[in-house]
Amino acid sequence: MSNQLSDRINSVTPSATLEMAAKARELRASGKDIIGLSLGEPDFNTPDYVKEAAIQAINDNYNSYTPVDGYVELKEAIITKFKRDNHLEYTPTQIVVSTGAKQALYNVAQVVLNKGDEVILPCPYWVSYSDIVKLADGIPVEVKTSLENDFKMTPEQLEASITPKTKMLWYSSPCNPSGSIYSETELRALADVLKKHPQIIIVSDEIYEHINYGVTAHASMAAFEDMYDRTVTVNGVAKAFAMTGWRIGFIGAPAYIARACNKLQGQVTSGANCIAQRAVITALTESPDRIKYMVDEFKERRKLILGLLNGIEGFKCNEPEGAFYVYPDVTAFFGKTLNGTKINNASDFAMYLLENANVATVTGDAFGNGNCIRISYAASEKEIIEAIRRIKEAVS
Ligand code: PMP
Ligand code: GLU
Repeated sequence: MSNQLSDRINSVTPSATLEMAAKARELRASGKDIIGLSLGEPDFNTPDYVKEAAIQAINDNYNSYTPVDGYVELKEAIITKFKRDNHLEYTPTQIVVSTGAKQALYNVAQVVLNKGDEVILPCPYWVSYSDIVKLADGIPVEVKTSLENDFKMTPEQLEASITPKTKMLWYSSPCNPSGSIYSETELRALADVLKKHPQIIIVSDEIYEHINYGVTAHASMAAFEDMYDRTVTVNGVAKAFAMTGWRIGFIGAPAYIARACNKLQGQVTSGANCIAQRAVITALTESPDRIKYMVDEFKERRKLILGLLNGIEGFKCNEPEGAFYVYPDVTAFFGKTLNGTKINNASDFAMYLLENANVATVTGDAFGNGNCIRISYAASEKEIIEAIRRIKEAVS
């Protein structure tokens, strides 16, 4: 029978991060000693005080369908969190809880974009942005940035990329994959450009907010009064609370966008999981100081991995200020033959490392920048040391 799939799904690329993680799992199952540095997933356990809240919720019989946009108590906790951490004032009608930040982003694209609308994505961007945009019939417009500029888009680049069809700007800060953080001043400069183009909605993905190494303070686009009414602030608990599998993300947004996300979600998934939501009330209500031990650990690992990578000729790194990835430029290897394998691009290089060093990374192509590969350091020090030793051996 011929392929009866829709053009929509045929145009989507599978998530490179999840694909690489699956490949690593497969190779491991076949007996290979693979070190997985491909997935952005903390190697910590969910903190006990959050787990206890979930156990309590089970015992309290939280088992029914949840409100589509989230429990009232969770929305209150999110409102308090936004006020406490980001100086953002939201009302309950502006909050929607979803099954992960990924669904939150998907919802926003679906409710805002019409066919042919352009979405500006500063590169490198998180792997799923471009496909989420395409699934909503939008057109991703990539804006190239450089390592020299810490992979940040300048106001001039933003201005030059805007056309009459531009409907949205999406970025993450701290950035997955580069770890770059836009300072308040840098965001203000971008806001000054956006001010001249009132049709543009901004998606500010702040899921790595707490994984910040103290150089540049976290800033939210919506905290600027003139951007508040046109910014969707996306956040979640997967990264900072080591809760990737619990699947809770949320938005603070203009009420008309939140209402539309609520309507969409009500026809697609209904409300997010009841137990996970109860646990997240505790996660967000407690002080972020309680999860700082993980951030401190990531900071040590960042130092370790940067030191080791800088000792390999051909790897050029920026110093990531947040998140838990390094995004080295590996163009020095392009055109070379390593152990009989010709390396033409970042995908060849990532594959070469998987097959020859038994280390899983992700090609930079997946993030809209083909000069780099992404390496996650959300792994133990022992794994990091061994992985980089293997990489060094495989490329020397
Ligand atoms: N945004 C960014 C920048 C991410 O790295 C991720 C990683 N999963 C997500 C959104 C999605 O988060 P979640 O696991 O909550 O869906
Ligand atoms: N956000 C993580 C990453 O970039 C998890 C994988 C995914 O959801 O694609 O690796």
